[in-house]
Amino acid sequence: MSRYAYVNGRYLPFRDAKVHVEDRGYQFADGVYEVCQVRGGRLIDERRHIERLQRSLGELRIPLPMSVKALGVVLREVVAKNRVRYGLVYLQISRGVARRDHAFPSPAVTPSVVVTARALNMRRNEALAATGIAVISVPDNRWGRVDIKTIGLLPNVLARQTAIEQGGRDAWFVDKDGVVMEASSANAWIVTAQGALVTRHADHAILRGITRAVVFDAVKGQGLSIEERTFTLQEAFAAREAFITSATQLVLPVVKIDGRIVGDGKPGPVASALRREFYRYAEAG
Ligand code: PLP
Repeated sequence: MSRYAYVNGRYLPFRDAKVHVEDRGYQFADGVYEVCQVRGGRLIDERRHIERLQRSLGELRIPLPMSVKALGVVLREVVAKNRVRYGLVYLQISRGVARRDHAFPSPAVTPSVVVTARALNMRRNEALAATGIAVISVPDNRWGRVDIKTIGLLPNVLARQTAIEQGGRDAWFVDKDGVVMEASSANAWIVTAQGALVTRHADHAILRGITRAVVFDAVKGQGLSIEERTFTLQEAFAAREAFITSATQLVLPVVKIDGRIVGDGKPGPVASALRREFYRYAEAG
């Protein structure tokens, strides 16, 4: 049986059911979803699922691009077109398609809506329930593995957006002990009052930046030393300089943190020199 999906206003055969490569759901996980059970061709607990959907959308400030009633029609239509009697209907709404940038698109774009449905094997599911299942335990690290450069960037997106709304350019993630982790899409650095370059050690809690590694080489090349350790926001407030590093921003001086001037409020000599010297240590292919 051929399958159908709803994609942004159209019911399409599965092979044609595509979203744009710059959909923010695809690039940032900047979206939400719901799954309803289908039984006897009817949606189970639709009202509750739609309420949770609206809450999720509200938390991300993504508008529902159609009425709840129209959405209900789409869900049913996809179930019917796929002739699902027992199974599931899947709904995903992302912030929409826009040039890749962590911050919300401005002006806003129309959110993307995708709905699919498929049958499940009731006999198999009942057999499973009759025997019961085994589970294993794992540490709850959702999501404690930001060392992996995944596209699960929703926290980064929200941090960047908050920074922009508060008149900043970027945000630094700080943990519960006041330790600076990294920026929303860059590594964070300070130069202490004593002149030491400090950046957080790379473990599972930050992304091991390529630019960060190049700066390590540049610093050594200039006879300076790096302290690879945690530093707190308080330390950053008292720093002589602060900066961030990333492939697209290189070494970018930070002159203000949470409204407080860093150093003399101007790009400092260490960050400026590292920016200047960067290409001596980077590899050009
Ligand atoms: N940290 C995060 C969260 C990032 O997203 C990035 C770059 O996108 C970086 C650090 C810096 O990495 P790189 O220097 O490889 O660009």
